Amino acid sequence: MAGEFEQYDDRFKKLTLGNVHLDHLASGCRWAEGAVYMAAGKYLLWSDAPNDRVLRYDETNGAISNFLQPANYHNGHTTDRQGRLIACEHGGRCISRIEHDGTRRVLADRFQGKRFNSPNDVVVKSDGSIWFSDPTYGIDTDYEGHASKAEIGGSYVYRLDPDSGEATAVATDFVQPNGLAFSPDEKRLYIADTGATHVDNGPHHIRVAELGADGRSLGPAKLFAECTDGLFDGFRIDTEGNLWTSAGDGVHVYAPDGTLIGKIKVPEVVANLCFGGPKRNRLFICATTSLYAIYVNARPAGWPA
Ligand code: MG
Repeated sequence: MAGEFEQYDDRFKKLTLGNVHLDHLASGCRWAEGAVYMAAGKYLLWSDAPNDRVLRYDETNGAISNFLQPANYHNGHTTDRQGRLIACEHGGRCISRIEHDGTRRVLADRFQGKRFNSPNDVVVKSDGSIWFSDPTYGIDTDYEGHASKAEIGGSYVYRLDPDSGEATAVATDFVQPNGLAFSPDEKRLYIADTGATHVDNGPHHIRVAELGADGRSLGPAKLFAECTDGLFDGFRIDTEGNLWTSAGDGVHVYAPDGTLIGKIKVPEVVANLCFGGPKRNRLFICATTSLYAIYVNARPAGWPA
């Protein structure tokens, strides 16, 4: 097993590869976040909110460039079913989409007439609905957004209806909801809570909630895993339901039953990650100042599309 992998359970072995290593692809960020793989263009995008930019790693030649600057302080990203970029904007306090012709369209910026705090991370369900978290990090200070007053008075998880464009609060009992991802069958939604940044001994865990029979609502969210080093921020789930999450000392990998089965050690605090590359078996890791990548024997839930 390559030195970057730490195994705690036999189930981790088949998810790793021998003779692979952690590639250091880019540096110079203040807070690397929001990795998303743009399959058609063969590039990876990620955000660096304190520098108000979105960067691009071109996998055809390894070049790093600015994709957007200024960037409305983007944080989390994903793609929708048509491959369009969906962004969480701290600056715009909204969820936006970049259309195929390159124009930006705001999909939602309000709940019941009040502005969102600062959308942080986002996933798209197979029915086209967009689910996102809305903690206050982007309005707390001017460092990674614009210091502003919260209008809603809570940090919720929302579902954006693909037809009406209406946002509905689906989870309201989180302190600072953050990363989120569906189980491969989309029957459960995992949500990280980084509330420990704002509350002494506050949450530093991931909870999991069952979706209602309508596929639009959530039942009570139960504890899935407590972070043993730092905080869980963004995470992804593979085809087998294993959860690959950011943490203070690298990437922590959990089996669907909540067992920590292994780690990928990274020399900087990890904020987010995503599967990419033509076979989606390369894990791109956003870690503080840097972008890293490592090949693994796993693919994201939903692959092949
Ligand atoms: Mg986040």
